[in-house]
Amino acid sequence: MELKTDVVIVGAGIAGCAAALFYARKNLKVVIVDRKKKDQYKVNCTHFIQPVGVLILKRLNLFEDIKKIGGAKHGLNMHLPSGTINHEELFGTDSDIYGFNIQRELLDPYLIKVLEEESNVTFLEQHVLKSITYTNDIADGIVVSGSNGRIEITANLVVAADGAHSKIAKLTKNEAKLNPSNKFTFFTYYKGIDIKTSAHWVLDDASVYAGALGDGVVLFGLFFNNADYDDWKNCEDMDTKVLQFIAKLKEIPSLDNAERIDDFIWMLNIDNLYRSPVKNGIAFIGDAAMKTNPVSGTGCAFALNTAEWLYKHTMEFFDNKKTKEEALSEYSKSHKDRLTPHFEGISTLSASEALSASEKDFYDLIITNDEISRQYLKLIYRIITPEEFQKQLLSNLLLSS
Ligand SMILES: Cc1cc2nc3c(=O)[nH]c(=O)nc-3n(C[C@H](O)[C@H](O)[C@H](O)COP(=O)(O)OP(=O)(O)OC[C@H]3O[C@@H](n4cnc5c(N)ncnc54)[C@H](O)[C@@H]3O)c2cc1C
Repeated sequence: MELKTDVVIVGAGIAGCAAALFYARKNLKVVIVDRKKKDQYKVNCTHFIQPVGVLILKRLNLFEDIKKIGGAKHGLNMHLPSGTINHEELFGTDSDIYGFNIQRELLDPYLIKVLEEESNVTFLEQHVLKSITYTNDIADGIVVSGSNGRIEITANLVVAADGAHSKIAKLTKNEAKLNPSNKFTFFTYYKGIDIKTSAHWVLDDASVYAGALGDGVVLFGLFFNNADYDDWKNCEDMDTKVLQFIAKLKEIPSLDNAERIDDFIWMLNIDNLYRSPVKNGIAFIGDAAMKTNPVSGTGCAFALNTAEWLYKHTMEFFDNKKTKEEALSEYSKSHKDRLTPHFEGISTLSASEALSASEKDFYDLIITNDEISRQYLKLIYRIITPEEFQKQLLSNLLLSS
């Protein structure tokens, strides 16, 4: 079988779905393929959508529906060694700046349902990418195989949204820059712990994330140095050890009624990787272009960010205002300019063994001034880049000196 389309996207995760919706709503024909079944969802995720991602869900008009299926507004309270930064105290309750907790079990099938309702989208589930076709080294389509047999899909734009282990990256030899991480993580779900908003604890040589997921369910994700892995993995009574560790965290409510309701999910070797956002005329978005250690909980937001940037730049190609090469080169620049500083910052955080004296001084400084605390949360929420944060920090320090 043969198909002809404007955009073909490999991968119907958050990045691929968002890109498909942006294009389809501008009347472009989109074919999106995924090897998974449409009701499968991502298990390895802690379900926090950073505020920058929430703004994009709003622009896609998905936000109200996601709220209805169980998404809940959440700021992040940051418990730093020097004290706590409380989201609500800094931004109030009416601000547009907040994150969102939505379980992937609910979010992923919802996104596929929205795709299937779009008349301009053809979604092919359980179809695997086999190869890429080219004209003069620029991709002009893909070949997939699945329940409908072998399909050759020709497209004006080929998008790789096929995740961190991208087959398109392998086929195009789009090699990743790899920044190793020194962290492993495990997470699980509890009932009976009265946490109402999401929180992150930065400890000397570890960190902990708690996400309130609704219906009294709280996810706890713990991040430790690789050197501690055997201690945790070989522990015979994980429940006691984990709860004893959590009990020592600042402002933690009573754990007397804590009941674990799921398995521990372990993740090792979660290195940070960055690939060229464009190769052979193919645009890479989401984890296919950049994967960061989950200690930062930012991958969904970056998936949404990159889908939107790609759409904005390449619409100029589809509207005949730019060549494809020009449009993709601008996408690549936006990706590099905005995301590589986050990539390097998160890589450093995930590689460290313990807080250095200067990091402790930094946290002391952040906590002393509300405006600096606010800007720091905006950085953590990925609304501003590390460079923008540094500028804000400097001007605040100059003003207050
Ligand atoms: C432990 C952990 C916790 C995390 N917590 C958070 C968090 O709280 N907040 C956050 O923002 N991020 C978090 N992340 C990161 C986040 O889950 C990812 O960054 C995000 O889901 C990436 O989306 P994506 O669409 O780019 O890729 P993916 O979700 O990986 O989607 C890729 C899609 O491509 C398909 N595919 C792959 N190869 C092929 C092929 N050959 N043919 C056809 N289809 C193919 C796959 O089936 C898949 O559906 C976490 C990650 C981990 C590991």
